[in-house]
Amino acid sequence: MNEHDSERIAGLLSADGYVPTEEAEQAQVVVFNTCAIRENADNRLYGNLGHLRPMKERNPSLRIVVAGCLAQKDGGAIQQRAPWVDVVVGTHALPGLLELLHASEVEGAQMDVREYTEVFPSALPARREVAHHAWVSVSVGCDNACTFCIVPLVRGPQRSRALGEVLAEVQALARQGVVEVTLLGQNVNTYGRDVTVPDSPRRPLFAHLLRAVNQVEGIRRIRFTSPHPHDFTPDVIEAMAQSDKVCEHIHFPLQSGSDRVLREMQRSYRRERYLEWLGAIREAIPGIAVTTDLIVGFPGETDADFEETLDVARRARFDQAYMFQYSPRPGTRAAQMTEQLPKDVVQARFDRLVELQEGVSLEIMQEHVGRTVEVLVEGVGRKGGVQGRTRTNKVVHVPGSLEPGTFLEVRVVSAHPHHLIGEAVVREPAAVG
Ligand code: SF4
Repeated sequence: MNEHDSERIAGLLSADGYVPTEEAEQAQVVVFNTCAIRENADNRLYGNLGHLRPMKERNPSLRIVVAGCLAQKDGGAIQQRAPWVDVVVGTHALPGLLELLHASEVEGAQMDVREYTEVFPSALPARREVAHHAWVSVSVGCDNACTFCIVPLVRGPQRSRALGEVLAEVQALARQGVVEVTLLGQNVNTYGRDVTVPDSPRRPLFAHLLRAVNQVEGIRRIRFTSPHPHDFTPDVIEAMAQSDKVCEHIHFPLQSGSDRVLREMQRSYRRERYLEWLGAIREAIPGIAVTTDLIVGFPGETDADFEETLDVARRARFDQAYMFQYSPRPGTRAAQMTEQLPKDVVQARFDRLVELQEGVSLEIMQEHVGRTVEVLVEGVGRKGGVQGRTRTNKVVHVPGSLEPGTFLEVRVVSAHPHHLIGEAVVREPAAVG
């Protein structure tokens, strides 16, 4: 969501005549788009702001903007601690960025941390990083209250965008050459629950949205993030299975394999239920890749709780897992819990989990060797050649020089825990560029 917001910030500034620069000294405006999910986000922000202070003193016309979740959470405290910041713009106030910027030039420091989204960021102009892919926000906020999570505090309750508006945006993107869209929401698969359609008892739910986006000509791949396991209802699974453009990949965040910890986290499922849902999804969509999030060292987590996480990870056989050592986020309920664990205990558990998961990931990747997969090229790879992704979201490196947006048939020649190496068998012309 932050990347998406960054594209919107860049789009608004471009529309106002600004151009990007690599040199901070040349900048007329510097925007920090902050993410409160990241550890130590505030320390890093104030460190960065500190570096800019001498520049601001030399050049008072430089505008310094703090946007995003930390701006929403800390509001006026930012300008108290760093009075050289010109604009603080919260997550709901992005559409007013240029007005705030211009007002700061004549009236001094500005702040807008309103608590309600009126204009979806997707409705703003964007300067996208790549031409073939676009983020499309379908909802903002979340109605859950997971005790470790800052999102409800900084993004507010869920608000869904009208189905017609989402579709119009996807159609416009397809006309511009976009071939892959990622539908975005903090809890994307509860899309529509808060929307009432005038004169109709029906709500446009996530399954309808998937089917409708699947009809858009020119779009070849549909992804979505971030879902909640509880909201993969049978209609969503059926819509995924029947929509040929919806990629065979789900992110299915487990967080913990212990029922006791899940209760403390205020997650609405339990381990066996989670595994049952996963089984049903794999049965409906054979070959689907499953990724997850796992938190190690949640307050009060015992050795036995952790063994249960290892057990579920072994049984679920995730393609990849985003594994985190718990660290308190100020403002969350879990941060108030008294049984915070010592760092060495958390580290030792984390290392065991990583070792287990790396082994599973490698086994799954090795099953791909010798197969031919469809790859959409994303850009230059870190290993030379180009890098792209399969429909199952596996990173593939391929020798050669190809435009981003090119579709390739690739034969996989070797496997690593986090990427595959392949050779192009068939190449389609670049979709864009
Ligand atoms: S469902 Fe996701 S976004 Fe919502 S509170 Fe839980 S972790 Fe945060």
